[in-house]
Amino acid sequence: MNRLLVLELIRKHRPVSRAELSKLAKMSATAIGRIVGDLIEGGLVQETDQFSSGVGRKATMLDIVNHSIISAGVEIDRNVLKIGLVDLDGSILAQVQHSLTPPASQPEPLAGLIAESLSELAESKGLALSKFTGVGIGMPGVMDTASGKAVVSAQLGWSDVPFAPMLQDKLGLPVVLDNDLKVKALGESGTAALSEENKTVLISIGSGVGSAIVIEGKIYRGANNIAGEIGHSTIDPNGKLCECGKRGCLQTYITDLAMLQEANQIKPVASVDELFALMKSGESWAYNIIDRACTYIAITINNVVCTYNPDTIIITGHFIDSHPDILDKVRGKLKEFIWEPFVGTFKLTRSQLGDQAVVIGAAKLALQQYLGNGLQ
Ligand SMILES: [Zn+2]
Repeated sequence: MNRLLVLELIRKHRPVSRAELSKLAKMSATAIGRIVGDLIEGGLVQETDQFSSGVGRKATMLDIVNHSIISAGVEIDRNVLKIGLVDLDGSILAQVQHSLTPPASQPEPLAGLIAESLSELAESKGLALSKFTGVGIGMPGVMDTASGKAVVSAQLGWSDVPFAPMLQDKLGLPVVLDNDLKVKALGESGTAALSEENKTVLISIGSGVGSAIVIEGKIYRGANNIAGEIGHSTIDPNGKLCECGKRGCLQTYITDLAMLQEANQIKPVASVDELFALMKSGESWAYNIIDRACTYIAITINNVVCTYNPDTIIITGHFIDSHPDILDKVRGKLKEFIWEPFVGTFKLTRSQLGDQAVVIGAAKLALQQYLGNGLQ
């Protein structure tokens, strides 16, 4: 993490001297010297011209080596595969998207497709794939990041698939695999180590409800990498039966399906967008369903705030991303539901990176892993 911090400081203040870095990073000159040495040796940072700094002294300036730091980010979902080449600024240099239908969505063919697409993308940009820092993958389900195994992904119908090692064998590059929401939160949480917003919780509402926590640039995983699975937190022990077999889980209140099930008691409604349109056209029952969902989103935010005391909460998911009014509605409810000591302690926002967040976050995870693993 110190390497990442120093690298980001160089990026932000380029060109910058070691002495300035030491001040900015609040690290000793010795520590900075060692980390900068590693970064230069790894070909990520270079010494540039000398500039005068203060009276009669010249300092060697440091700069990022252009295109030296490229990571690949991959998003795998039930029907779509997205691959992007991402630089240190978190900008996507090149990207490609494929539709996934069986058998392409099976592990072996999918690993082949990713490897092939990455080679093509790198070639299109005149970059050497072998120089990439690594490949990060975000996909839905429970992931064992340490072993690179997809433990279970209901969306893809996978269980116990050692997908990261499989792809690593094909590419000869380090591959890191994580849950899509976790890397999304990492992508959204700003510049990893330096972000002002350094305790971020992302809450996603769609086919399920989940959250992910990023603390000071690192994903908080819990003991089994399933921290943040709030969809099955109990709201009401006498509530509706959930697919997990328990009653009154949070996801029986605010998923798209939960809203549509209620709506269909009145009339056939195919999507949450249709429900939203019905609310806009003055249907009071549609208003009630959405209003209740917003109430439970506000309750969820209060519970998250009480648990983690974050400085930033991002709420995302198709329904929220495509209907900005929902966020205002939730904000209105917060006045009623946030416990007083937490009022004004956090910022509530929508996703800033939209549908690129997983790719960018996955690439960032690959970079973090690379810097943590040394610069050989
Ligand atoms: Zn449940």
